[in-house]
Amino acid sequence: MPGRLDNKIALVTGAGSGIGRATALVFAREGAKVVVSDIVVEGGQETVQQIEAAGGEAIFVKADVSQAADVETLVAKTVETYGRLDCAFNNAGIEGGVKPTIDCTEEEFDRTIAVNLTGVWLCMKYEIQQMLSQGGGTIVNTASAAGLVGFPGLPDYVASKHGVVGLTKTAALEYAKSGIRVNAVCPGVIQTPMVERGAQLSPGFDELAVSMEPVGRFGQPAEVGEAVVWLCSDAASFVTGIPMQVDGGLVAQ
Ligand code: NAP
Repeated sequence: MPGRLDNKIALVTGAGSGIGRATALVFAREGAKVVVSDIVVEGGQETVQQIEAAGGEAIFVKADVSQAADVETLVAKTVETYGRLDCAFNNAGIEGGVKPTIDCTEEEFDRTIAVNLTGVWLCMKYEIQQMLSQGGGTIVNTASAAGLVGFPGLPDYVASKHGVVGLTKTAALEYAKSGIRVNAVCPGVIQTPMVERGAQLSPGFDELAVSMEPVGRFGQPAEVGEAVVWLCSDAASFVTGIPMQVDGGLVAQ
């Protein structure tokens, strides 16, 4: 059966772990060649090995998304290797300080914004230049349920993810007539190393997180990946500028 993204070139940041790795695997399953990027080399290489073991094709490029030079090089290496960039999943992110507003330090606030918000903007800046030159493409940014509603104790994270939703809508409007669709996914609580770190820091975290989810369980990373790949596929050809909740009903409450 043909894949939904046969012969497409997909780029995934934060692909060495969690949602990024699972989505890179779904891209490859659907026939895309995948540029796997992360700040963590071992994680990224492991994702490439998993894609290859499943019969797909991928390369790893190390990049820190908060550094413009890294992001410019990442897009350049994608084009140098595969000739174009069809689908970009700007997903790399960090959980931030996990402290109430008055306790969050300037350093924590600035770092979270640098990775989660400036990182997404930098990725779009260089990806869109390439997509304009080739006549189109699709972009999905990872926001969060925390990009749609507030969460006490996550001021830097919530600010960064609301910013991602705003950037997504703006770029969608700017490039709608140029064949470039830009959307965001807003995951709920997804079982990844990021959430496992939260559970280690605060006893009772798992129970609290599951109780917030109307479906009564954590989401799995691949459940986000399926939504991302749908947004990148031709099946979503009239969809642009949306923050899509993939959250088990969390934000519907
Ligand atoms: P994860 O397992 O920690 O994966 C994120 C990956 O991104 C890690 O390999 C991480 O490396 C990497 N990374 C961190 N900073 C980077 C940088 N500056 N440049 C490039 N890569 C960087 O987390 P995840 O849960 O899959 O999260 C992926 C995205 O989903 C994030 O944007 C997160 O905010 C968002 N999200 C997650 C959830 C959830 O419940 N898990 C919910 C909503 C939204 P390190 O391990 O070194 O940090």
